[in-house]
Amino acid sequence: MDLELKGKVAVITGGSVGIGLAVARGLAAEGVHVALCARDEARVVARAEEIARDYGVRTLGVAADVSRAADVARFAAAVSDTFGGADILINNAGTGSEETIMEAPDEKWHYYLELHLMAAVRLARALVPRMRARGGGVILNNASICATQPLGYEPIYNVSKAALAMFSKCLANELIGDNIRVNTVNPGLIQTPDWEKTARLLTRDQGVSWEAYLEEVAKENTPIGRFASPEELAHFFVFLCSPKASYCVGSSYYVDGGWLKVV
Ligand code: NDP
Repeated sequence: MDLELKGKVAVITGGSVGIGLAVARGLAAEGVHVALCARDEARVVARAEEIARDYGVRTLGVAADVSRAADVARFAAAVSDTFGGADILINNAGTGSEETIMEAPDEKWHYYLELHLMAAVRLARALVPRMRARGGGVILNNASICATQPLGYEPIYNVSKAALAMFSKCLANELIGDNIRVNTVNPGLIQTPDWEKTARLLTRDQGVSWEAYLEEVAKENTPIGRFASPEELAHFFVFLCSPKASYCVGSSYYVDGGWLKVV
């Protein structure tokens, strides 16, 4: 199936590893030029160069911490300078948390809201004017199943992702008249370095391997009984970016192996 994406330009935050990288590679395989950002400059530049080599598309890798307004502005300016704007924006950069509401300080709340919510707000403001001028586009916000079904150890993560999902819905209403489709993707268990790091931490002195721990997490939580690979999830992102998903507007789509407990 031709997804009619060839020659488009996509901006992906947190594109150097995990889900963001898999989405970047999935889009590049369809002939999409990609601009990636992440904090670790060497890694994001190396991944961008690899994608250019592997798929023959133009790429840009920029060191930027999207929880900082100045970095977001610098990244958006680099995208405009290099590509003249973008057709697709994937707000993906993010990470889990661990706290109780009673003990977490204001600063931690502020950080996660900047990272998960304000980065998406600022990138939309920066990139939408040129998206409009190009005739339309797609914005996908990578929230989490936790935006709806919270995990007990990470209330700040749950709340900030729920805020992102509501922002996504409001933005969808505001931009559909400009032929810009905005949606949220809520992944379940995707085996990325972020989960590996968590599993290693939690099994440190437990006499159980991190791999066995992850297997147990998947069996306990998901009817399918396993994690997804980032590539399995990326196919869905790529589809939503394409004109084949033309009636997908303002929704939240779960890709979770059946983990969500309600209909
Ligand atoms: P990874 O930790 O594997 O990758 C995160 C990516 O984001 C890296 O490229 C990282 O690079 C970048 N990043 C992290 N913080 C920032 C920042 N402040 N500014 C810019 N870039 C940043 O995570 P995943 O691939 O697992 O997760 C990606 C997204 O998917 C997250 O938003 C997460 O909440 C969401 N998600 C993940 C699930 C899963 O099971 N894995 C399930 C549901 C949602 P660097 O460190 O160099 O900045």
